[in-house]
Amino acid sequence: MTRRVSIFGATGSIGQNTIDLIARAPAQYQVVALTGGQNVAQLAADARRLGAQVAVTADPGKLDSLRAALAGSPVQAMAGRAALLEAAAMPADWVMSAIVGAAGLAPGLIALQQGATLALANKESLVTAGPLLMATARQHNARVLPVDSEHSAIFQALVGEDIAQVERIIITASGGAFRDTPMQDLAHVTLAQASSHPNWAMGQRITIDSASMFNKALEVIETKEFFGVSPQQIEVLVHPESMVHALVGFCDGALMAHVGPPDMRHAIGYALHWPQRQPLPVARLDLAAIGQLSFRAPDLARYPALRLAGEVMQAGGLAGAVFNGAKERALDGFIAGHIGFLEMAVLVEKVLSQLAGHPELANATLDLDNVAHADHLARRAVDALIAQRA
Ligand code: NAD
Ligand code: MG
Repeated sequence: MTRRVSIFGATGSIGQNTIDLIARAPAQYQVVALTGGQNVAQLAADARRLGAQVAVTADPGKLDSLRAALAGSPVQAMAGRAALLEAAAMPADWVMSAIVGAAGLAPGLIALQQGATLALANKESLVTAGPLLMATARQHNARVLPVDSEHSAIFQALVGEDIAQVERIIITASGGAFRDTPMQDLAHVTLAQASSHPNWAMGQRITIDSASMFNKALEVIETKEFFGVSPQQIEVLVHPESMVHALVGFCDGALMAHVGPPDMRHAIGYALHWPQRQPLPVARLDLAAIGQLSFRAPDLARYPALRLAGEVMQAGGLAGAVFNGAKERALDGFIAGHIGFLEMAVLVEKVLSQLAGHPELANATLDLDNVAHADHLARRAVDALIAQRA
């Protein structure tokens, strides 16, 4: 039986890895929707190759070029935010959520509402609206499967286990581009330096977030929301080789580690074939050749983002949406050259405290509108701080 699949963020790093797996067994899948942004040439080429029903660019200004690139093919071209949401409502069995940023939340919710299994790479969905996403899944008898490598690792270590017997969950962090850069040099690192990861090939935004550990901060919150454990049970461990992705510690002292090469096709493939396993085109580790793996505690002075994650979990409610929105906007500022690398965390911390207890956010229910409003206020607050500083 063929499975109907859609890929949101198909032109990105996760999207392309997902397409790589699906294109290896085209007879097994019927591709419903592929979505992208600016890169309509890639989007159109993949939509033609995979025989997608629709191809959607998030940018309405790109509709004409998408149409032109699809000329003569049966693929329908669509554009804009509404089209993206329409595509999410098209019946599918399995939907990859791989848009980067808060923009990935709404399509994922709609996919769950129509009962699709949601393969979740978009960690921002859980950071901004974890309880809403998980409740939507339960309500519609739909499933969320983790795709982030650490969370896929935890999920796999928990197969057949009782979460009540879990003492702690350890997620590893490579340390990113600057793990060995002296603290005093961090203020002046360049965009190009921050955009290169020692182990993983990923989109630019998550690569920079890895260097600042904002990515790990998001992942700590993602762990809490997805697995329902308490913040005190979650630990971060620096592991420069990126081979051990996560470890789950049980009440009897056993520690189950998930070990594998840094290749996202493993986690994507696990979510694609779950609850079964199927052969995947990832390298097999030769541990004797690797010889040694190393671990160390993260330096919290070096990575304020990790401390902020703790505060966000403590605050709850819309704090995650504020945190993520401020982080995204500060990252825009760093990419645009308006602020330095270390200023990102400084701005995010200021915005978190400015908006803590904000009358429009405190005690507001966690629904899509309020999450969007918190995100908007956070971005505006970052803009104001950057403008003040200029
Ligand atoms: P990427 O930048 O390579 O791709 C992002 C995709 O989202 C592209 O298709 C782009 O066109 C689309 N997009 C961007 N902004 C959009 C918007 N406003 N509306 C609609 N579409 C938009 O990113 P990536 O590295 O593939 O990461 C995607 C998601 O997966 C992120 O949430 C990231 O944190 C997560 N993730 C990525 C990796 C990885 O290895 N790349 C690993 C774990 C988790
Ligand atoms: Mg990860």
